[in-house]
Amino acid sequence: MIETRLTAELKALADAGLSRRRRILESPCGRRVTVDGENLLNFASNDYLGLAGHAEIAQALAAGAIKWGAGSGASHLVSGHQSPHEALEKEIAALTGFPRALTFSTGYLANLAVTPTLAGRGAAVFADKLNHASLIDAMQLAKAQGAEVRRYPHNDMAALESMLAGTAAPTKLIVSDAVFSMDGDLAPLPALFALAERYDAWLIIDDAHGFGVLGAHGAGSLAHFNLPPSPRIVLMGTLGKAAGVGGAFVAGSHSSIDYLLQKGRSYIFTTAQPPALACALSKSLQLIAEGDARRAHLMARIAQLRDGLSHLPQPLLPSITAIQPLIVGDNDAAVQLSQALWERRLWLPAIRPPTVPPGTARLRISLSAAHTEADIDALISALHALT
Ligand SMILES: *Cc1c(COP(=O)(O)O)cnc(C)c1O
Repeated sequence: MIETRLTAELKALADAGLSRRRRILESPCGRRVTVDGENLLNFASNDYLGLAGHAEIAQALAAGAIKWGAGSGASHLVSGHQSPHEALEKEIAALTGFPRALTFSTGYLANLAVTPTLAGRGAAVFADKLNHASLIDAMQLAKAQGAEVRRYPHNDMAALESMLAGTAAPTKLIVSDAVFSMDGDLAPLPALFALAERYDAWLIIDDAHGFGVLGAHGAGSLAHFNLPPSPRIVLMGTLGKAAGVGGAFVAGSHSSIDYLLQKGRSYIFTTAQPPALACALSKSLQLIAEGDARRAHLMARIAQLRDGLSHLPQPLLPSITAIQPLIVGDNDAAVQLSQALWERRLWLPAIRPPTVPPGTARLRISLSAAHTEADIDALISALHALT
């Protein structure tokens, strides 16, 4: 009986063409992957710098495991905080320019810590409508703890300003993705920062898709806009995308980071990442900081793709990042286009509601520094043939 509702809902999902399934990769993440015995060009990962399969990072992981064993054994505050974790925090602080950083097991957990913990009771939280699901869940947690939460239309600074001007809450938080994950566009970070200053608000920035890719030394979207590491900014970045490994960080002032360490439930009540992952991430951060050639190659591939697709009936959304969405509109049409590309050995996922607004189903083209000029040409020709 208890299963009846689930079966009905699963059937409804399938009937609406919204059932999801997983593809099993029989190879490491890279520009080419093997799926069902087929060799495909991969435009479906967030491995923007091509580091997920990098030999030096894998070696650092293996060496870390030999030296430190498999697990951390406890949460950071109990006994799981080891020298590789400590070293990684310092390296992240140095790269991002903030006084201090804290690492988390995943970006989802990092986001669940930041907004609710800094908000507390009686705060007002203002968030972009297109923020990542983990930030939306963080807002729900903040709300459950007595904060007032509001969402403003995507990148609409006038709407945000009138919300800020209209609140009497003693603590205000502005929460935004830096690079929007399904659109690839940037938040107007200088304008957000100016509003945060004017209304004495925290500015919480999720740079999952900018860290490693944008800014000097890959420091991310704040560096791209030359914003200072202000004490009112809390920067979150993930380490499983451009960094190619897994986990996340939050960087900020000494007091904001110490506050999260003392009070962030999804920091405190979870086991510290295996120390070998921190060893791998230290190597990855070094490759990111020294990665100007990788970033220049990626930027050239982005320009090549945008140029090559400029005459398609449906243009790419405006984006300077590795995320280049091609809006199709109809759910089934997006799936069919993705399937036709698959038959040409090109892997591009169709993204449908509820991940994106109804009527905006799309192909999310994700580029990587691992792609060659010929790879991009192959994608351009296929899209011209199919659309
Ligand atoms: C991927 C992502 C996250 C979650 O990070 P994980 O480390 O994968 O849990 C958070 N925010 C944004 C914008 C993301 O794209």
